[in-house]
Amino acid sequence: MSEQVRVRYAPSPTGHPHIGNIRTALFNWLFARRNNGKFIVRVEDTDQERLVPGAVDSILEGLQWLGIDWDEGPQVGGDFGSYYQSERLEHYSAAAETLIDTDHAYRCYCTRERLSELRDSQKANKQSIGYDGHCRSLSDTERNDLDSSGQSYVVRFKMPHDGMTSVNDIIRGEVEWQHHLLDDFVLLKSDGFPTYHLAVVVDDNLMHISHVLRAEEWLSSTPRHLLIYQALGFTPPKFGHLPMILGPDKSKLSKRHGATSILEYRDDGYLPDALKNFMVLLGWSLDDHSDVIPLETIQSEFSLDRVGKPASIFDIDRLQWMNGVYIRELSDDQLTDLMLPFITDNTVSIDREYLLRVVPLIKERIKTLAESKDITSYFFDTDVGCSKAQIIQKGMDASQTITALKNIISAVHKLDPFASGNIEEVLRTTCVESDLKPREFFGLIRSAVTGRDATPPLFELMEVLGKDSTLLRLEKALSLF
Ligand code: GLU
Repeated sequence: MSEQVRVRYAPSPTGHPHIGNIRTALFNWLFARRNNGKFIVRVEDTDQERLVPGAVDSILEGLQWLGIDWDEGPQVGGDFGSYYQSERLEHYSAAAETLIDTDHAYRCYCTRERLSELRDSQKANKQSIGYDGHCRSLSDTERNDLDSSGQSYVVRFKMPHDGMTSVNDIIRGEVEWQHHLLDDFVLLKSDGFPTYHLAVVVDDNLMHISHVLRAEEWLSSTPRHLLIYQALGFTPPKFGHLPMILGPDKSKLSKRHGATSILEYRDDGYLPDALKNFMVLLGWSLDDHSDVIPLETIQSEFSLDRVGKPASIFDIDRLQWMNGVYIRELSDDQLTDLMLPFITDNTVSIDREYLLRVVPLIKERIKTLAESKDITSYFFDTDVGCSKAQIIQKGMDASQTITALKNIISAVHKLDPFASGNIEEVLRTTCVESDLKPREFFGLIRSAVTGRDATPPLFELMEVLGKDSTLLRLEKALSLF
């Protein structure tokens, strides 16, 4: 690639960023990094009515958490700032003036009422909805009169009536639009703020953006953008529209599919690299079959030729599974540090060294860090909340259970050292002596010591609990009878 690659992620802070938005950021970032280019973040905050307080912060925090760093944009600055569109209004009004002067745009004084009547009548007559060009042919005198009466106006683009515009989209190939199907859309609103169409073109041009990689929903805006580029005499960037992301039921991805703010994934205990791996596969593939792909490989292999056209399906179970895989790749020390904040709260403070011994036992089973508290709870709380009914194993009665518990307690008392191999050997003998099936005998110990039916290997977990804590739990179980 000869020209410098400069790509941007241009979020509108009208809500908290979800997987779909961040996938766009990720693809742009990977493309920039792969091609020694620049990745720019630009905040598209021109729709003042729809701004959501805190949205910009959560977008930036989400990117930082994921390790998606930007070369220009909020916090870091750059040569083409401001990177907030609301601070760049003079560029858009200048462009709108140029378009008016060159007869590519005009002032439209139509009132809200007229536009809403127009829309109603178009609906009633089953016509396509759009501006009818009412103010396109006002005479200079009519315009001057409206201006001097203080009538507010918007600036509209003068859509050519015939011909067509086409784009050779990097991902979707050749796409064409007939001009007569497009209306005279608004460039500048009556409050002086630009619409998305004008601002995006002006900024992509001023910021020397080489490739616009964005979600497919923006494809239909592309002919408008290309026409503005042409009218302003700018060279357009290359365009690539990323495939849609759908929920497992093939409907548009929404909150009910688990597509919540990206920071919720952090709070739910997903690892940034797992999420990046998961997100990159929503549209890109390495070789049609690999799913767990190290970040270095993703970074070195990412290319737009392997971004497909078909919609991708967002599957939260797959993300959970992948997160588990990434968790198992962590060292015990790393996992301990990551789990600590999920377990510690105002009421419990955790001994790190102890947790470090628990971690190898649960590492195979944990899928998200948010499970940390529950999956380890019985290691920290001797009150395992086990009922009499849970302790009495299938095929046993209360008196057999009491006898067995007594045998177990006296065997455990004598255990020295209290190490898994020794624990196993002694308890297997006690099992035979108690004349119980291993399923009954060890099921009983498991319930009494952990309060759970499924746990990591019993003898190893008893070793980690230690002799005193194990005895305490067995005694508590016996006291229920
Ligand atoms: N501000 C638009 C958004 O929120 C950006 C569209 C584009 O990338 O052109 O997605």
